[in-house]
Amino acid sequence: MKITGIDCHVLLDPGYDADATSSNQDTIVVEVHTDEGIGGIGETDLNAWIARACIQAPGTHTMDRGLTAMLVGADPLDPVALWDRVYAGTAMTGRRGALVHALGALDMAIWDICGKAQRVPTWRLLGERGREHLTPYASLLPRAGQGFDAFAETIADQAIAASRQGFRAAKLELLTRGPYAHEGLAVGDDRLVEVIAAVRKAAGPDFDIMVDVAYGWDDWRDALAVIETWAEHRLFFVETPLWTDDLDGYAELARRSPVPLATGEWLSTRFEFRELVERQAVHVLQPDVGRVGGLTEARRVCELAARHDLRVVPHGWKTGITVAATAHLAAVTPHLPYFEFVPPTMAESRLRRELVRDELVLGADGTLPLPARHGLGIELDRDALAEFAAAGARLG
Ligand SMILES: [Mg+2]
Repeated sequence: MKITGIDCHVLLDPGYDADATSSNQDTIVVEVHTDEGIGGIGETDLNAWIARACIQAPGTHTMDRGLTAMLVGADPLDPVALWDRVYAGTAMTGRRGALVHALGALDMAIWDICGKAQRVPTWRLLGERGREHLTPYASLLPRAGQGFDAFAETIADQAIAASRQGFRAAKLELLTRGPYAHEGLAVGDDRLVEVIAAVRKAAGPDFDIMVDVAYGWDDWRDALAVIETWAEHRLFFVETPLWTDDLDGYAELARRSPVPLATGEWLSTRFEFRELVERQAVHVLQPDVGRVGGLTEARRVCELAARHDLRVVPHGWKTGITVAATAHLAAVTPHLPYFEFVPPTMAESRLRRELVRDELVLGADGTLPLPARHGLGIELDRDALAEFAAAGARLG
Protein backbone atom coordinates (compact mmCIF):
# COMPACT_ATOMS: atom_id res chain seq x y z
CA MET A 1 0.00 0.00 0.00
CA LYS A 2 1.19 3.52 -0.75
CA ILE A 3 0.13 6.96 0.47
CA THR A 4 -1.01 8.96 -2.55
CA GLY A 5 -2.04 12.30 -1.08
CA ILE A 6 -2.99 14.31 2.00
CA ASP A 7 -5.89 16.74 2.31
CA CYS A 8 -5.77 19.41 5.01
CA HIS A 9 -9.02 20.94 6.23
CA VAL A 10 -8.60 24.11 8.29
CA LEU A 11 -11.85 24.32 10.27
CA LEU A 12 -13.27 27.18 12.28
CA ASP A 13 -16.45 27.66 14.28
CA PRO A 14 -18.10 30.60 12.46
CA GLY A 15 -19.15 32.04 15.83
CA TYR A 16 -15.66 31.85 17.36
CA ASP A 17 -14.68 34.31 20.06
CA ALA A 18 -11.17 35.67 19.56
CA ASP A 19 -10.97 36.51 23.27
CA ALA A 20 -11.78 32.98 24.42
CA THR A 21 -9.01 30.86 25.95
CA SER A 22 -10.04 27.66 24.25
CA SER A 23 -8.38 25.72 21.47
CA ASN A 24 -11.55 23.92 20.40
CA GLN A 25 -12.97 26.69 18.25
CA ASP A 26 -10.75 25.66 15.34
CA THR A 27 -8.96 22.53 14.25
CA ILE A 28 -7.01 20.97 11.44
CA VAL A 29 -8.33 17.72 10.07
CA VAL A 30 -6.15 15.64 7.79
CA GLU A 31 -7.26 12.94 5.40
CA VAL A 32 -4.52 10.61 4.21
CA HIS A 33 -5.32 8.75 0.98
CA THR A 34 -3.83 5.52 -0.35
CA ASP A 35 -3.64 3.69 -3.66
CA GLU A 36 -5.95 0.98 -2.26
CA GLY A 37 -8.78 3.41 -1.64
CA ILE A 38 -8.48 3.26 2.16
CA GLY A 39 -8.30 6.68 3.78
CA GLY A 40 -7.40 7.77 7.31
CA ILE A 41 -8.47 10.74 9.43
CA GLY A 42 -6.54 12.67 12.09
CA GLU A 43 -6.35 16.05 13.82
CA THR A 44 -4.09 17.93 16.19
CA ASP A 45 -4.32 20.69 18.76
CA LEU A 46 -2.28 23.47 17.18
CA ASN A 47 -3.05 26.70 15.32
CA ALA A 48 -4.66 25.11 12.27
CA TRP A 49 -3.00 27.40 9.73
CA ILE A 50 0.44 26.68 11.16
CA ALA A 51 -0.33 22.96 11.14
CA ARG A 52 -1.25 23.18 7.46
CA ALA A 53 2.02 24.97 6.69
CA CYS A 54 4.00 22.24 8.49
CA ILE A 55 2.25 19.62 6.38
CA GLN A 56 2.30 21.35 3.01
CA ALA A 57 5.57 23.33 3.02
CA PRO A 58 8.14 22.15 0.48
CA GLY A 59 11.68 21.28 1.60
CA THR A 60 14.91 22.11 -0.18
CA HIS A 61 17.34 19.57 1.26
CA THR A 62 17.38 16.17 2.90
CA MET A 63 16.88 17.30 6.51
CA ASP A 64 14.03 19.77 6.12
CA ARG A 65 11.49 17.79 4.17
CA GLY A 66 7.87 18.84 4.37
CA LEU A 67 5.60 16.24 5.94
CA THR A 68 3.61 15.63 2.75
CA ALA A 69 6.79 15.27 0.71
CA MET A 70 8.04 12.59 3.10
CA LEU A 71 4.79 10.68 3.33
CA VAL A 72 3.53 10.53 -0.25
CA GLY A 73 4.76 7.29 -1.76
CA ALA A 74 5.47 5.69 1.65
CA ASP A 75 3.84 2.48 2.91
CA PRO A 76 1.46 3.41 5.78
CA LEU A 77 1.31 -0.10 7.24
CA ASP A 78 4.41 0.24 9.45
CA PRO A 79 3.53 3.45 11.33
CA VAL A 80 6.33 3.29 13.90
CA ALA A 81 9.10 3.00 11.31
CA LEU A 82 7.43 5.73 9.30
CA TRP A 83 7.24 8.02 12.35
CA ASP A 84 10.93 7.55 13.09
CA ARG A 85 11.85 8.24 9.47
CA VAL A 86 9.74 11.41 9.29
CA TYR A 87 11.03 12.63 12.68
CA ALA A 88 14.61 12.35 11.41
CA GLY A 89 13.84 13.76 7.97
CA THR A 90 12.22 16.90 9.38
CA ALA A 91 14.83 17.43 12.10
CA MET A 92 15.84 20.92 11.03
CA THR A 93 12.27 22.20 10.99
CA GLY A 94 10.88 20.01 13.70
CA ARG A 95 12.05 17.78 16.56
CA ARG A 96 9.64 19.58 18.91
CA GLY A 97 6.64 21.85 18.95
CA ALA A 98 4.46 22.66 15.96
CA LEU A 99 5.93 20.23 13.48
CA VAL A 100 5.65 17.29 15.87
CA HIS A 101 2.08 18.35 16.72
CA ALA A 102 1.28 18.35 12.99
CA LEU A 103 2.98 14.99 12.55
CA GLY A 104 0.64 13.78 15.28
CA ALA A 105 -2.42 14.40 13.08
CA LEU A 106 -0.85 12.41 10.25
CA ASP A 107 0.24 9.56 12.51
CA MET A 108 -3.32 9.33 13.85
CA ALA A 109 -4.64 9.07 10.28
CA ILE A 110 -2.04 6.42 9.41
CA TRP A 111 -3.10 4.29 12.40
CA ASP A 112 -6.69 4.71 11.19
CA ILE A 113 -5.61 3.32 7.80
CA CYS A 114 -3.84 0.38 9.47
CA GLY A 115 -6.95 -0.60 11.39
CA LYS A 116 -9.17 -0.32 8.34
CA ALA A 117 -6.69 -2.29 6.21
CA GLN A 118 -6.66 -5.15 8.71
CA ARG A 119 -10.38 -4.79 9.40
CA VAL A 120 -9.92 -4.37 13.16
CA PRO A 121 -10.33 -1.47 15.60
CA THR A 122 -6.97 0.33 15.72
CA TRP A 123 -6.44 -0.47 19.41
CA ARG A 124 -6.00 -4.13 18.54
CA LEU A 125 -2.86 -3.15 16.63
CA LEU A 126 -1.59 -0.91 19.45
CA GLY A 127 -1.33 -3.63 22.07
CA GLU A 128 -3.05 -6.06 24.37
CA ARG A 129 -6.49 -5.21 25.68
CA GLY A 130 -5.76 -3.24 28.86
CA ARG A 131 -9.27 -2.94 30.24
CA GLU A 132 -12.88 -4.03 29.78
CA HIS A 133 -14.29 -0.52 29.35
CA LEU A 134 -13.11 3.09 29.25
CA THR A 135 -13.70 5.69 31.93
CA PRO A 136 -13.80 9.32 30.87
CA TYR A 137 -13.78 12.37 33.09
CA ALA A 138 -15.72 15.59 32.49
CA SER A 139 -13.85 18.89 32.17
CA LEU A 140 -15.86 21.71 33.69
CA LEU A 141 -15.18 25.23 32.49
CA PRO A 142 -18.19 27.49 33.03
CA ARG A 143 -18.29 30.94 31.47
CA ALA A 144 -16.96 33.41 33.98
CA GLY A 145 -18.89 36.57 33.29
CA GLN A 146 -20.66 37.10 36.60
CA GLY A 147 -17.88 37.09 39.15
CA PHE A 148 -16.42 34.43 41.38
CA ASP A 149 -19.46 33.56 43.47
CA ALA A 150 -21.63 32.82 40.44
CA PHE A 151 -18.74 30.89 38.87
CA ALA A 152 -18.30 28.79 42.01
CA GLU A 153 -21.98 27.99 42.12
CA THR A 154 -22.12 27.09 38.42
CA ILE A 155 -19.10 24.80 38.51
CA ALA A 156 -20.47 22.98 41.57
CA ASP A 157 -23.81 22.55 39.76
CA GLN A 158 -21.99 21.22 36.69
CA ALA A 159 -20.07 18.72 38.80
CA ILE A 160 -23.32 17.46 40.28
CA ALA A 161 -24.86 17.25 36.81
CA ALA A 162 -21.83 15.30 35.56
CA SER A 163 -22.08 12.83 38.44
CA ARG A 164 -25.80 12.40 37.73
CA GLN A 165 -24.97 11.70 34.08
CA GLY A 166 -22.79 8.85 35.27
CA PHE A 167 -19.33 10.46 35.28
CA ARG A 168 -17.08 9.11 38.01
CA ALA A 169 -14.69 12.05 37.87
CA ALA A 170 -14.60 15.70 36.89
CA LYS A 171 -11.97 18.36 36.54
CA LEU A 172 -12.58 21.85 37.87
CA GLU A 173 -10.93 24.53 35.76
CA LEU A 174 -10.09 27.09 38.45
CA LEU A 175 -8.56 29.71 36.17
CA THR A 176 -8.13 32.57 38.60
CA ARG A 177 -4.45 33.33 37.95
CA GLY A 178 -1.70 32.85 35.38
CA PRO A 179 -1.89 33.10 31.59
CA TYR A 180 -5.37 31.55 31.36
CA ALA A 181 -6.84 33.78 34.08
CA HIS A 182 -10.43 34.67 33.39
CA GLU A 183 -11.50 38.25 33.84
CA GLY A 184 -13.85 38.57 36.75
CA LEU A 185 -12.32 35.62 38.59
CA ALA A 186 -9.57 37.60 40.31
CA VAL A 187 -9.92 36.29 43.85
CA GLY A 188 -7.44 35.32 46.51
CA ASP A 189 -6.14 31.75 46.52
CA ASP A 190 -7.89 31.15 49.83
CA ARG A 191 -11.29 31.24 48.09
CA LEU A 192 -10.53 28.30 45.80
CA VAL A 193 -10.89 25.72 48.52
CA GLU A 194 -14.53 26.78 48.92
CA VAL A 195 -15.27 25.54 45.41
CA ILE A 196 -13.47 22.26 45.97
CA ALA A 197 -15.24 21.70 49.29
CA ALA A 198 -18.65 22.44 47.73
CA VAL A 199 -18.05 19.94 44.91
CA ARG A 200 -16.79 17.27 47.30
CA LYS A 201 -19.84 17.76 49.51
CA ALA A 202 -22.26 17.64 46.57
CA ALA A 203 -20.65 14.80 44.63
CA GLY A 204 -19.94 12.54 47.59
CA PRO A 205 -16.85 10.57 48.61
CA ASP A 206 -16.66 8.20 45.63
CA PHE A 207 -16.32 10.86 42.96
CA ASP A 208 -12.81 11.76 41.80
CA ILE A 209 -12.10 15.49 41.65
CA MET A 210 -9.25 16.98 39.65
CA VAL A 211 -8.27 20.65 39.69
CA ASP A 212 -6.61 22.52 36.83
CA VAL A 213 -4.98 25.84 37.69
CA ALA A 214 -3.43 26.28 34.22
CA TYR A 215 0.09 27.40 35.09
CA GLY A 216 -1.21 29.63 37.88
CA TRP A 217 1.82 30.02 40.14
CA ASP A 218 5.30 31.41 39.50
CA ASP A 219 6.85 29.87 42.59
CA TRP A 220 6.47 26.30 43.87
CA ARG A 221 6.34 27.56 47.47
CA ASP A 222 3.20 29.58 46.75
CA ALA A 223 1.65 26.60 44.98
CA LEU A 224 2.46 24.28 47.89
CA ALA A 225 0.94 26.60 50.49
CA VAL A 226 -2.40 26.56 48.66
CA ILE A 227 -2.38 22.90 47.61
CA GLU A 228 -1.82 21.89 51.23
CA THR A 229 -5.18 23.45 52.10
CA TRP A 230 -6.88 21.27 49.47
CA ALA A 231 -5.52 17.93 50.63
CA GLU A 232 -8.36 17.10 53.03
CA HIS A 233 -10.75 16.99 50.06
CA ARG A 234 -8.76 14.14 48.49
CA LEU A 235 -8.04 15.44 45.00
CA PHE A 236 -7.06 13.03 42.26
CA PHE A 237 -4.50 15.52 40.94
CA VAL A 238 -3.72 19.18 40.49
CA GLU A 239 -2.91 20.03 36.87
CA THR A 240 -0.16 22.35 35.66
CA PRO A 241 0.41 24.29 38.89
CA LEU A 242 3.63 25.83 37.47
CA TRP A 243 4.84 27.08 34.10
CA THR A 244 5.75 24.22 31.84
CA ASP A 245 9.49 25.06 31.69
CA ASP A 246 9.88 25.27 35.47
CA LEU A 247 11.22 21.75 35.90
CA ASP A 248 13.10 22.70 39.05
CA GLY A 249 9.85 23.99 40.54
CA TYR A 250 7.95 20.84 39.56
CA ALA A 251 10.64 18.64 41.09
CA GLU A 252 10.52 20.57 44.38
CA LEU A 253 6.73 20.62 44.45
CA ALA A 254 6.36 16.95 43.50
CA ARG A 255 8.52 15.97 46.49
CA ARG A 256 6.30 17.84 48.94
CA SER A 257 2.80 18.11 47.51
CA PRO A 258 0.07 16.16 49.34
CA VAL A 259 -1.86 16.08 46.02
CA PRO A 260 -0.41 14.32 42.94
CA LEU A 261 0.86 16.66 40.19
CA ALA A 262 -0.25 16.30 36.57
CA THR A 263 1.27 17.98 33.54
CA GLY A 264 2.30 17.46 29.93
CA GLU A 265 -0.57 18.71 27.74
CA TRP A 266 1.79 20.92 25.67
CA LEU A 267 4.70 18.50 25.37
CA SER A 268 5.84 16.94 22.14
CA THR A 269 7.69 13.62 21.88
CA ARG A 270 8.49 11.09 24.57
CA PHE A 271 11.79 12.88 25.12
CA GLU A 272 10.11 15.86 26.79
CA PHE A 273 8.16 13.50 29.05
CA ARG A 274 11.31 11.55 29.84
CA GLU A 275 12.91 14.65 31.28
CA LEU A 276 9.96 15.23 33.62
CA VAL A 277 9.88 11.61 34.68
CA GLU A 278 13.60 11.25 35.28
CA ARG A 279 13.59 14.33 37.48
CA GLN A 280 10.66 12.88 39.45
CA ALA A 281 8.81 16.09 38.71
CA VAL A 282 5.35 14.69 37.98
CA HIS A 283 2.95 11.93 39.11
CA VAL A 284 0.42 11.87 36.27
CA LEU A 285 1.46 12.30 32.61
CA GLN A 286 -0.97 14.14 30.36
CA PRO A 287 0.00 13.66 26.72
CA ASP A 288 -2.36 15.06 24.12
CA VAL A 289 -2.42 12.38 21.44
CA GLY A 290 -2.07 14.86 18.57
CA ARG A 291 0.43 17.25 20.12
CA VAL A 292 2.76 14.60 21.49
CA GLY A 293 3.21 13.28 17.95
CA GLY A 294 0.29 10.90 17.42
CA LEU A 295 -0.59 7.44 18.66
CA THR A 296 2.92 6.18 17.99
CA GLU A 297 4.44 8.65 20.40
CA ALA A 298 1.55 8.65 22.89
CA ARG A 299 1.99 4.89 23.26
CA ARG A 300 5.70 5.42 23.94
CA VAL A 301 4.81 7.91 26.68
CA CYS A 302 2.50 5.30 28.20
CA GLU A 303 5.34 2.79 28.13
CA LEU A 304 7.62 5.31 29.83
CA ALA A 305 4.98 5.88 32.52
CA ALA A 306 4.61 2.14 33.10
CA ARG A 307 8.35 1.73 33.60
CA HIS A 308 8.24 4.40 36.31
CA ASP A 309 4.98 3.28 37.89
CA LEU A 310 3.20 6.49 36.93
CA ARG A 311 -0.30 7.09 35.63
CA VAL A 312 -1.40 8.60 32.33
CA VAL A 313 -4.51 10.78 32.00
CA PRO A 314 -4.45 12.20 28.46
CA HIS A 315 -5.39 15.74 27.55
CA GLY A 316 -8.03 16.12 24.83
CA TRP A 317 -9.79 19.39 24.13
CA LYS A 318 -10.64 19.02 20.48
CA THR A 319 -13.24 17.26 18.32
CA GLY A 320 -14.50 13.69 18.26
CA ILE A 321 -11.41 12.76 16.24
CA THR A 322 -9.11 13.33 19.22
CA VAL A 323 -11.67 11.65 21.48
CA ALA A 324 -11.63 8.58 19.23
CA ALA A 325 -7.84 8.38 19.03
CA THR A 326 -7.54 8.78 22.80
CA ALA A 327 -10.10 6.03 23.38
CA HIS A 328 -7.97 3.61 21.35
CA LEU A 329 -4.91 4.50 23.43
CA ALA A 330 -6.91 4.01 26.64
CA ALA A 331 -8.11 0.60 25.49
CA VAL A 332 -4.57 -0.83 25.63
CA THR A 333 -3.27 1.12 28.65
CA PRO A 334 -4.13 -0.31 32.10
CA HIS A 335 -2.43 2.57 33.93
CA LEU A 336 -4.66 5.13 32.19
CA PRO A 337 -7.57 5.42 34.66
CA TYR A 338 -9.36 8.36 33.00
CA PHE A 339 -9.23 10.40 29.85
CA GLU A 340 -10.59 13.85 29.12
CA PHE A 341 -13.97 13.66 27.45
CA VAL A 342 -16.34 16.52 26.90
CA PRO A 343 -19.62 14.94 25.80
CA PRO A 344 -21.02 16.68 22.70
CA THR A 345 -24.16 17.49 24.69
CA MET A 346 -22.12 19.48 27.24
CA ALA A 347 -19.67 21.08 24.80
CA GLU A 348 -19.70 24.77 23.97
CA SER A 349 -17.69 24.10 20.83
CA ARG A 350 -19.70 23.53 17.66
CA LEU A 351 -16.74 21.56 16.29
CA ARG A 352 -16.99 19.14 19.19
CA ARG A 353 -20.75 18.89 18.84
CA GLU A 354 -21.12 18.58 15.08
CA LEU A 355 -18.01 17.39 13.23
CA VAL A 356 -18.03 13.75 14.31
CA ARG A 357 -20.79 11.54 15.58
CA ASP A 358 -19.23 9.75 18.55
CA GLU A 359 -18.97 6.03 18.24
CA LEU A 360 -18.78 5.80 22.03
CA VAL A 361 -21.67 6.96 24.18
CA LEU A 362 -21.41 7.40 27.92
CA GLY A 363 -23.33 4.74 29.81
CA ALA A 364 -25.25 5.37 33.02
CA ASP A 365 -22.39 3.69 34.91
CA GLY A 366 -19.96 6.35 33.66
CA THR A 367 -18.09 4.12 31.23
CA LEU A 368 -17.69 3.80 27.48
CA PRO A 369 -17.39 0.50 25.62
CA LEU A 370 -14.15 -0.29 23.80
CA PRO A 371 -14.16 0.97 20.21
CA ALA A 372 -15.50 -1.65 17.83
CA ARG A 373 -15.47 -0.16 14.33
CA HIS A 374 -12.52 -0.74 12.01
CA GLY A 375 -9.74 1.83 12.27
CA LEU A 376 -10.40 4.73 14.62
CA GLY A 377 -14.12 4.50 13.89
CA ILE A 378 -14.50 8.15 12.90
CA GLU A 379 -17.40 9.30 10.74
CA LEU A 380 -17.17 12.92 9.61
CA ASP A 381 -20.29 14.99 9.03
CA ARG A 382 -19.41 16.35 5.57
CA ASP A 383 -21.92 19.22 5.73
CA ALA A 384 -20.48 20.43 9.02
CA LEU A 385 -16.96 20.03 7.62
CA ALA A 386 -17.84 22.18 4.58
CA GLU A 387 -19.39 24.92 6.74
CA PHE A 388 -16.42 25.01 9.15
CA ALA A 389 -13.92 24.92 6.25
CA ALA A 390 -15.64 27.91 4.62
CA ALA A 391 -15.35 29.82 7.92
CA GLY A 392 -11.68 28.84 8.14
CA ALA A 393 -11.03 29.99 4.57
CA ARG A 394 -12.52 33.42 5.33
CA LEU A 395 -9.82 33.93 7.96
CA GLY A 396 -6.84 32.81 5.89
MG1 LIG B 1 -5.27 22.07 31.38
